[in-house]
Amino acid sequence: MVTLVLTTLVVWRLKTGRLGRAMQAVRDNELAAGTCGINVFATKVIAFGLSAVVGGIGGGFFAGGFQYISPDQFTFGESIVLLTMALLGGVQSPFGSLVGTLVLVILPEWLRFLKEVYLAVYGAAVILIMVFLPDGLWGLMLERTRLRAKPIAGDVPKLPLLTQTGAETQEVVLGVQGLAKHFGGIKALDGIDLAVRRGTVHALIGPNGSGKSTFINVITGLYRPTAGRVMLAGQDITHATPHQRNRAGLARSFQNIRVFRGMTVLENVMVGAERPGNDVAENPALVVERALAALDFVGLRPDAHREVGALSYGHQRYVEIARALAATPHTLLLDEPAAGLNLTEKHELGELLRRLKGHGLTILIIDHDMKLVEQVADHITVLNFGRRIADGLPQMVLKHPDVIAAYLGEPQNVAA
Ligand code: ADP
Ligand code: MG
Repeated sequence: MVTLVLTTLVVWRLKTGRLGRAMQAVRDNELAAGTCGINVFATKVIAFGLSAVVGGIGGGFFAGGFQYISPDQFTFGESIVLLTMALLGGVQSPFGSLVGTLVLVILPEWLRFLKEVYLAVYGAAVILIMVFLPDGLWGLMLERTRLRAKPIAGDVPKLPLLTQTGAETQEVVLGVQGLAKHFGGIKALDGIDLAVRRGTVHALIGPNGSGKSTFINVITGLYRPTAGRVMLAGQDITHATPHQRNRAGLARSFQNIRVFRGMTVLENVMVGAERPGNDVAENPALVVERALAALDFVGLRPDAHREVGALSYGHQRYVEIARALAATPHTLLLDEPAAGLNLTEKHELGELLRRLKGHGLTILIIDHDMKLVEQVADHITVLNFGRRIADGLPQMVLKHPDVIAAYLGEPQNVAA
């Protein structure tokens, strides 16, 4: 009993802590977890190791208690029963496993008076619970209490959201030379040069399939480049992992939203705030404060305790941006942040970008909305078929005949 209580406490504490949140982030979205500074491989190894420890303790007691073990005590059916116990109780919490185990040990005993049909009744009860309670019995209890949870009131936290403030300078924060990415015969990127200067909003535009998302994926380390070099604030990051790049000050949002679905809005943003090396990472109270400050910045503070999946598409985007901001990056990459937003939301986004820029953050933004791009961009680079076809100040680039041709899909005329 003592071991049971201790193990339950440890596992329970794990879930609400930094390591537990990292594990859930890896479970919910591996790619996003890496770009939030989590070492995905190490987290998986730790999860496997901890599970093995708990299993080992159980096995030790089992062998000691029975004084005899043989492989045929551990049948396939036994695995199913264990899994059913966890699912029935709810995998969200170790208490769920306790509840599930209790029910599945006691239920067959209670039903024994039914003699022959008891197994069928037992099976039907399990199926019904699984169909109608996907989060298990413990999930049902949690849902009841969460409905009663009060929204956060009080002052806006004073913790600064951005530690790196800096005026626009000529310094190149993100420098890319000869970057290429080939997928078999497809040259998604074919020798791209690009220089993003500190404190500017740099827009990357181009028709669908021109290589914009691939560019960001290579920059953030999700894809290995076929050729070329990437420099971040004077540091060569061409071969760095996604979490190393995040720790070096690079954060991003995704074209297809990648939030951690099993967590609340606040927990999502906390994962960003507690990236290793962040100023608040070692202090749980400050992590919450930083996360709330980031949510406040994007206007989602009242939704902090909601499940992230319950938010609208546009607001889930903002959660991603807040998660990126909470890590206090100096450079933010946004892949089509306006996609799927309605007009009001697009207007809010433009406002948000201007405020971010006011803080001295460097932003590389991909978008199709020319109005938005014209409003916020200091510099525009245009891609077409994986090649850079124009680069410069917005007024010049948007009038460039090659750019007009690429967007209208017409052959380029000889300029008069
Ligand atoms: P954009 O974001 O500009 O619309 P992408 O960067 O998504 O374009 O894609 C550029 C090209 O690379 C497209 O032809 C696309 O089909 C191809 N591509 C992108 N990712 C992959 C992949 N993982 N495997 C194969 N081809 C890919
Ligand atoms: Mg794209």
